This record gives sequence, C-alpha cells and structure tokens, in this order.
Amino acid sequence: MKSKIKANSQNVANPFVYSDTNKRYHTYDYYLKQRFGSKCAKIPIDAHMTCPNIDGSKGFGGCIYCSGGGVGASANCCMDIEEQYKRGVELLADKWHADKYIPYLQYHTNTYSPLPVLKELYEKLLKMPGAVGLNIATRADCLPDRTVDYLADIAERTVLTVELGLQSIHDSTAKLINRGHTYEEFLDGYERLRHASDMINIAIHLIDGLPGEDPDMMLATAKAVGCLKPDMVKIHSLYVNKGTRLFDMYDAGEFTPIKKEEYIDILVRQLQVLPPETVIGRITGDGERGIAVAPDWAFRKVDILNGVDKKMFAENTWQGRLYGK
Ligand code: SF4
Repeated sequence: MKSKIKANSQNVANPFVYSDTNKRYHTYDYYLKQRFGSKCAKIPIDAHMTCPNIDGSKGFGGCIYCSGGGVGASANCCMDIEEQYKRGVELLADKWHADKYIPYLQYHTNTYSPLPVLKELYEKLLKMPGAVGLNIATRADCLPDRTVDYLADIAERTVLTVELGLQSIHDSTAKLINRGHTYEEFLDGYERLRHASDMINIAIHLIDGLPGEDPDMMLATAKAVGCLKPDMVKIHSLYVNKGTRLFDMYDAGEFTPIKKEEYIDILVRQLQVLPPETVIGRITGDGERGIAVAPDWAFRKVDILNGVDKKMFAENTWQGRLYGK
C-alpha cells in the first residue's frame, strides 16, 4: 500500500508528456498503447541468419560480447519460424494479456541474405496470425539499396521497425569490441534508411559500460544519437557471456563491468539528452542465466527500472529535459 501511494504521487507530479504513469521517459509500453490501443507481445524469431562480422566478410569471431546468436543466444534455433511464432504466442499471450503480436527477428543480422530470401522470410512473418508489425534487428552496414527499397515497401503495409546496432559512436571503442564498422559507416546506413521512407521506424541499440568508455563518452554517444532523432533507442549495460572474448578479458581481470549505481546515473543523464518523442525500447538487457555471468545486478531488472524512476523523480528531471542543450 505504501509503495502504491508513492507511485501515485509520482504520477501526479510527473511533468513528462509521453507518459500516463510515474515513468519519466517514453516507454515502449506507452508507445504500444498509443499506437495499437493495447499491449502487443514481441515474438522473438531466429531465422538462422549469420553475420558479416562472424563469417569473415567483415571480420571473424564477432563482437567481443557476442555469444554467437546475436547479443543473446536463441533457445529456438532448431525450430522453423512457424513453430517459433506459435510457441512464442502461447508463452506470451497470457503473460502480456495480449492479442496482437510483433514478430521480432532478433538474432544475428537479419538483412544479411539475398533479397529473394529476405522477401520470403519477411512476407511469411507478415502473414502470421495476429501479427500487427515486424521488427528486424540488423547492422547499418548490411543495408544494400535494393533491400532498403523493399523495407520502404513493407513500411507502407505494416508497422515496421528496423533495429540498428551501434553501441557507441566512438571508433576507438568499435575497434576494441571488434564491431567491424565505423560510426561513419553506421551513419551511411542510417541516413539511407531514413531517406527511403518516413514510415520506417528506426531503433538504435546502445550499450553502456563498454571497455575503455567513461561516462562522458557514453553521454556523447547519447547526445549524437539524439541529434539523429531516431524513433526508438534501446540501451543496456554490457554483460559478460560465457564463451566470448569478453569473458576471457573479464576472467583475466582486464575488464570490470559497470556498477549498478554508475549505470543508473549515466542512464538518467542519457535520457535527459534524448528527444522526448524517441521511444525508449528498453533500459535493461536480456542476459541469460547460465550464459551471462556478470554483472549479477543486471539480472534484477526491476531494481534498475525502479532505480531510474527514483532518481528521475528525486532530481525532478525527465527524458529530453536537456535535449539540444
Ligand atoms: S553484429 Fe550482432 S550478431 Fe554480429 S557479431 Fe556483433 S553482436 Fe554478434
């Protein structure tokens, strides 16, 4: 009861326009309610793609934190996409009280295939029962013009979100994490997508606590990304997965994960410089127990969400308060 009263008083005092709760940032939940009138569940789909940063066309071994299935590993890698969708709907329908679904091509680089292959895959997903959109995670350096034109065509027919991994604007960091592209290359892909159609929602993925980065570098990334006015930003702290090069660095004492308080602090600073219209797709990661080994606080997502709410309320700040300043 006590916490309820507190939450209510935070709701009343909340000056942030894109919120109907105590959240002082533009949550994905709020966006879904506005866009679809109710909750939608994202259904993760593993389309068995690879990545140019793994197969050698850009690099070998992938980003140092990559567990081989993208950022998180897929439990669905042996099922076809129809089965994965069906299973995802069964698992999430009750939990989310949802009857609308967004297939989410989450693993690896989902535009990294010949166009006919992509067309077959995407068109199949668009026709899944209850599907009201499509989310495609990929790299900005894997967007040939013909694929971009096709994405623009899809965006005329459904709510399409293309999610681009950036992680950091700093090329020194990109080199250190073996990202396999520069910020300039990212911008090239981003701008071509942006100019192809206003209907394509573009999400940018960022990671805080990358090796060699201090809070000022993370803030600079958020500021630069804010200037691009993306439709969505997803942020999480770097976590260490077993079997990755980052794990070897962590094990050898060459990498120390960011602390919870530091992460909450930088997150609030980043939210302040992002445009208020930009949807915050997430501020926590999906590290899997048994694979992700550190930092342990990253598994307690509620602590992070509550910590951000508390800090924004105590400082009377909100997303976009310092945008453009
Ligand atoms: S871009 Fe994604 S899938 Fe490719 S190596 Fe990096 S984390 Fe893994």
